[in-house]
Amino acid sequence: MTKYVFITGGVLSSVGKGVTTASVALLFKSMDYNVTVIKIDPYLNVDAGTMNPYAHGEVFVTEDGGETDLDIGHYERFLNMNLSKKNNITAGQIYYAVIMKERKGEYLGATVQIIPHVTNEIKQRIREVGKEYDADLVFIEIGGTVGDIEGLPFLEAARQMRLEEGFNSVAFIHVALVPTLKVTGEQKTKPVQHSVQELRRIGIQPDIVVARCERPLDPEAKSKIALFSNVPPEAVISNYDVANIYEVPIILMRQMLHKILAQRLALECREPNLSPWLSFLEKVTKSVKPVRIAMIGKYTKLRDSYISITEAVKHASAYLGIKPIFKWLESTDIENGYIDIEKELADINGALILPGFGKRGTEGKIKAIKYLREHNIPTLGICFGFQLMVVEIARNVIGLDNANSAELDPMTPHPVVNLLPSQQGISTIGGSMRLGAINIKLYRGSKVYEAYGREIISERHRHRYGVNIKYIDVFESAGFTVSGVSLDDESVIEFMELKNHPLFIGTQSHPEFKSRPLAPSPLYISFLSKASQ
Ligand code: GLN
Repeated sequence: MTKYVFITGGVLSSVGKGVTTASVALLFKSMDYNVTVIKIDPYLNVDAGTMNPYAHGEVFVTEDGGETDLDIGHYERFLNMNLSKKNNITAGQIYYAVIMKERKGEYLGATVQIIPHVTNEIKQRIREVGKEYDADLVFIEIGGTVGDIEGLPFLEAARQMRLEEGFNSVAFIHVALVPTLKVTGEQKTKPVQHSVQELRRIGIQPDIVVARCERPLDPEAKSKIALFSNVPPEAVISNYDVANIYEVPIILMRQMLHKILAQRLALECREPNLSPWLSFLEKVTKSVKPVRIAMIGKYTKLRDSYISITEAVKHASAYLGIKPIFKWLESTDIENGYIDIEKELADINGALILPGFGKRGTEGKIKAIKYLREHNIPTLGICFGFQLMVVEIARNVIGLDNANSAELDPMTPHPVVNLLPSQQGISTIGGSMRLGAINIKLYRGSKVYEAYGREIISERHRHRYGVNIKYIDVFESAGFTVSGVSLDDESVIEFMELKNHPLFIGTQSHPEFKSRPLAPSPLYISFLSKASQ
C-alpha cells in the first residue's frame, strides 16, 4: 500500500523546502523503500517553461521533456533517479483538465466546483504518480506558503486524503522559518506558531515541524514550537544553515526524523544506508584545491537561475578533489562596459557561458568568449552559450561581419544560428521547444568522445535554434569542428570544439540536468579537470 507524506511551508517561501523534501525522501530511499516525489506549484501556468528565471529560478527539464520547477532538480539529484513531467503538478494543469472535462460533458448535470471536482483531480493525479512508480511512499511538496489563496485547494485535497487513505497512510511535515534577531541572538517562534495555526484552522495537524534556522534550535524555542504546534518536542527538527546542502539528510537523520515519520506511518524503521552519500560528502570536505570558474550569463543576480549548472560543477569538483570558486559576471554589465573583462578574467581557470534567451547581454557574452578563446582558457558553452561561441568565431575568426543568431537579429547577413527546421511553423510558446532527452552521436577522436568514453550518449535539451549547417564547412576549415550530432537527424549539431585550444567546447544540450552527486557529468569532469591543470 502506498503512503503519502505532504510537505507544507510556512512564513516565507524559498527557505529550503525543496531540499528538506529531497532529504527526507533520500532517507527513506536509503531505508530501501521505493519512493517518488511530487512538486505542486499552485500558480496558473501550465508549467514553468514560460516563466522568467528571476521569478522562479531555473526551469528544470526532465527526460520526458517536462519544463518543471527547479525543485524537481533537487529531487533527481538527491535521489539519483529520473522523474517525469507528471511529478510537477501545477494549478494550471488541474484547472485546464477540469475545464476540458466539463466541455466534454464528463460532469454532465453537475455544478463544477473547487470541492469536489478540483480536489478530486488533484488527488487522482497524486495517486496516479504513486502507482506509476509503484511507490511505497510518495512525498508531495506543496509550493508557496500556508495561507496563500491559490494553495487552498491543494491543502484541502491533502486533508481529504488523510481521511480516505487512513491515518497511518498520510503524514504532514511543516517546514517554516525561525528567524534569529541580530541584536539579541534570540530565535523567534511566533511566525511558525502562526503558520501552524493556519494549517490547523483548515484541518491539518502537522506530525513533524521542521524549523529552518541559522543555528540549531535552543531548547526553549523547541519546546515553545512543540507546545504551540501540538506535537511532541522530538518531532520539532532543526534544519539549520550548512555550507553544503547535501548535508541536510544527515542533519535530519541525526535528529531521528526518519524514525518519527516511519513510526507515524506504521512502517518498519530500517537503518538508512547512506554510505555512498557519506563518501561523496567526505570528498567535498577533502577537496581544497581552489579552481576559479567564471559564470557568464544575464541572470547572475539570482543564482537559482543556474542551479543545475552550479550543482554540476560541484559534483564534478568533488569527484576531482577540487574546490570550485565561482565568479559571477553579468553579461549586460560586460556589454555596457561596467565590467572590465581583461581584469575580471585574468585570474580565471575556466569559464562557463550560460544558457539563455533574447538579446540582452549577448554582445557582452561574445566579448568574453573572444577573450577566453584568445587566452586559451578552458571554456564550456551551454546551449545559448554554445550558439554565441558560434557567432563569435564566425565574426572574429572567419570574418563574417555582423554574423548572428536569427533569434537575436532576424536581418543578419550571416544567420550562423537559425531556427531549427523542426520548429518552423510552431506558433505556441508553451512546451513547444525541442525538449527532453535526445540521443547524440559523438565523433571518435574528439574531445567530447574522450570525455564521455562512448559513441552514443543521451542529454536533455531545451531550445528552438541551432547551428546553421550551411556554414559547417567554413567552421570546419577555421578549426571549429563538429564533434557530435543528433543520432536521428545528423543535421542537428550537438557539439562543436575548437582545435588548438586546451578546451573550447560548445554543446546544444544541457548536461547539467543529468549530473548528480553520485553520478557527475562526464563533460563537466573533463572541463574542470582541464581548468584545474
Ligand atoms: N535561445 C536559444 C534557443 O532557443 C537557447 C536556449 C537555451 O539556452 N536553453 O535555441
